[in-house]
Amino acid sequence: WEWIEKTPTRDAVSDPKKQWTYADLGNAIKSARAHLDAHGVIAGDRLMVVIENCCAVLAFMLAASDMDVWVSVVNARMSNAELDGIRQDCDPKHLICFVDYSKDAQRYGDFIGCKTVEDDLLGTLTCQTYPDSKAEAVEASAAEQVFAMIYTSGTTGKPKGVMLTHRNIGFIATVSGALRGLEQMDRVYVVLPISHVFGLASTCMGSLFAGATLFMETRFDVEICLNALRDKKITVMQGVPPMYSMLIEGLKNHGLKADDLFLRYMSAGGAPLDPETKAITENFFGRPLHNGYGLTEASPTISQVRLNENLQTCSVGKPIPGQEVKLMKTPDEQVKDGETGELWVRGPNVMKGYFRKPEETAVVLNDQGWFNTQDLARQDEDGNLFIVGRSKEMIVRSGFNVYPAEVEATLNSHEGIIQSAVVGVEVEGNEEVHAFVQVPRKSTLSEAEIKAFCKERLTAYKRPSSITILHDLPASSTGKILKHHLKEMATAQQA
Ligand code: ATP
Repeated sequence: WEWIEKTPTRDAVSDPKKQWTYADLGNAIKSARAHLDAHGVIAGDRLMVVIENCCAVLAFMLAASDMDVWVSVVNARMSNAELDGIRQDCDPKHLICFVDYSKDAQRYGDFIGCKTVEDDLLGTLTCQTYPDSKAEAVEASAAEQVFAMIYTSGTTGKPKGVMLTHRNIGFIATVSGALRGLEQMDRVYVVLPISHVFGLASTCMGSLFAGATLFMETRFDVEICLNALRDKKITVMQGVPPMYSMLIEGLKNHGLKADDLFLRYMSAGGAPLDPETKAITENFFGRPLHNGYGLTEASPTISQVRLNENLQTCSVGKPIPGQEVKLMKTPDEQVKDGETGELWVRGPNVMKGYFRKPEETAVVLNDQGWFNTQDLARQDEDGNLFIVGRSKEMIVRSGFNVYPAEVEATLNSHEGIIQSAVVGVEVEGNEEVHAFVQVPRKSTLSEAEIKAFCKERLTAYKRPSSITILHDLPASSTGKILKHHLKEMATAQQA
């Protein structure tokens, strides 16, 4: 953490209650280390932290990293049952809830009977130690030691602990920071949860490696975000596409003008970006909305639109340097140029494996180090990747392949629809296309109108056969739509 020595007086990180220089951050790391030492945490132990974004969690992460302790950063907004599922899987030596910033962290800490600890710099914490938890062996090579264990956001099912090493996180922090042109003068808005590797490695570690200033926001709120972009003179913002859809909606009632802003870089990632959202966002902010693609198991970045590119398409950009990618028709055969196939990746960003799940690891990671993303993609002649969908989400309707992302992009282009999610649902032995659409509260948009809109734009087999209109779609802690919940809902509606 070279900037603690090099630029001690520069602002490092702030949250709604604290503001730390790099020197303060250095002192907070010492306090966090003293807390871990006092509770008997040693190299190879797992530390679970239950948080919403705040300065103190960064101090614990960096202290754990120095001590070769694995840190599992978990979003407090999950239910007690979900958090407990993760706690049992993670089997931590020590668990901390950051209660100053999160009623949910307080709620979970109370639920498991944590004790309260006060610290001048770190604030009020509640914690619990589990003496029976056994430390994992420490790797001979520091780069191979696990730094973070991130639980996948679970948009398709049960969360799994993804073991990410110092090499994984360091590689992404350096490469994705460089691809964003991150430098000391940048003021980076951190609204992506740092419990997700997108927020943790790409946004936070990338910015700290560059010596930039971080502004941590506990939760995404349109009004707070728009004000922060202006008042905190934010230069860099990374988000998931639904955040930009909501910002566009919020701008209608907000006096913000693009001229009031200092933004030089905006990116979306983590879920499909539709052309409508990209175009409106770029039109308002007057700069490209860079698309990037990845997943937890790749720490997360696999591809990113380059800084000097202003792509008109929703391509997720070229693969980042230092990693190999290939598109596979079957596990043994690559696709021909321009064809769609499953995207495999190998390189310093690929995870070590799923914690205590060797069989599930072997399904996606082969012994030559190739990881199957299970995403379907194609690559154009310039090397730009396009994500077509997830192989496990593809709908096969009467023998035809339907990619939910394509149907969602059409639905999202309707001016009365905020966002949508399409799932396959079994009806009398066939897979049918069911759409969930989110509309504003006062909307009178009907299912028949949406179907008529789709009829003009989509081939018959791609059109939703049933539609549910909602005012909110269930979202994960990152803001990504929880499709497995929607699939269950659609299936229940058919029954
Ligand atoms: P789980 O692994 O439990 O299902 P999850 O898939 O949401 O949870 P993440 O690692 O957050 O976990 O999500 C990665 C997935 O998000 C990718 O596999 C891909 O399907 C999708 N994705 C990420 N970025 C993009 C993008 N820019 N465009 C399209 N899809 C994307």
